[in-house]
Amino acid sequence: MQSKTDLEVILTRESDIHLPLENRPVIANQKRGDLFISIHANANRNRRISGVQSFYLNFSTDPSVLETAAKENATSTKNINEMMDIIRRIARNTKIEESKEFALKIHKSLVNRLSQKYRNVKDMGVRGAPLWVLIGGKMPSALIEVSYLSNPTEESRLNNPQYRQRVAQGIYDGILGYINSLGKGK
Ligand SMILES: [Zn+2]
Repeated sequence: MQSKTDLEVILTRESDIHLPLENRPVIANQKRGDLFISIHANANRNRRISGVQSFYLNFSTDPSVLETAAKENATSTKNINEMMDIIRRIARNTKIEESKEFALKIHKSLVNRLSQKYRNVKDMGVRGAPLWVLIGGKMPSALIEVSYLSNPTEESRLNNPQYRQRVAQGIYDGILGYINSLGKGK
């Protein structure tokens, strides 16, 4: 599992500190990033739920998406209505289509990579959601929930460095897939 590219990776944080959600795309803009990825581990009260789930910034009326968004946005001081307003204002300038494509590419390659080695890797889909961490970035942006910490099987997998390496490789494949698709239609 190796590839060579000249990609430069910039982390918004390198230790377990809290960085406000809204500040993360600001860093991406300041560093003139070409792509933005927010990497997460998911959680649900229902411990049987597992799988890979990915998001890009968009409006949503789906209750389950809004529930996830509320959890993800919990540390922000702004409320969801303020946010919808902001999204409406920036929607015209945001790369929604590109971000959707980017999220899809990462999502598919991550599910593929994990499925090659592990059983019952569930594809929980790619959806638009109003997420603070995806607002304001000037580049295609995606949020990837790589597995569920609340699911005992995935929790123990996440504890394994080989699994985490495979997660990283899946994300990396998706980034390369997206870059290679640029300028080629789809
Ligand atoms: Zn999350």
